[in-house]
Amino acid sequence: MENNKRKIKPSGKKLSLSELRKVFEEVGLRLTHQRIMIYDAICQAKDHPSAEAVYERLKKKAPTISLDTVYRTLSTFEQLGLVKRVHIFDHIRFDPDLSRHHHFVCNICKRIIDFSWPEFDEFPLPKHLWEFGKVLDHQVEIRGICKECQKREEKK
Ligand SMILES: [Zn+2]
Ligand SMILES: [Zn+2]
Repeated sequence: MENNKRKIKPSGKKLSLSELRKVFEEVGLRLTHQRIMIYDAICQAKDHPSAEAVYERLKKKAPTISLDTVYRTLSTFEQLGLVKRVHIFDHIRFDPDLSRHHHFVCNICKRIIDFSWPEFDEFPLPKHLWEFGKVLDHQVEIRGICKECQKREEKK
């Protein structure tokens, strides 16, 4: 189930139900009701949630859903190129935004804030990178302390 085997290229936008069905049909997977719910939940999320966070959001609406199902479904979505996996502080989080963007990560509250940096995107990568192998993707991760946490720290 590799990305490049798919005929439908991820557009970066949320797929319609029929587009999503096509993606699943192509790889011979069933688009179950739970998978649709998980897809809707991750696409609505702006906070790069973990599987646990998605599960917490869904379990009221879908009491039969399990954390394991959510985790496995998000991994399937990643393999299908529908979401991206983000590794932050040993945690796996998921990003539904496939467009080119970068992340500001707060060291205290672990918040991930999206930002764009077109100047960086246009900048050629150092040539010696290709000595290590083929570059597939690159993204900047800025670590810092977000404004809210800064305010909280000042009050202490
Ligand atoms: Zn913070
Ligand atoms: Zn992001």
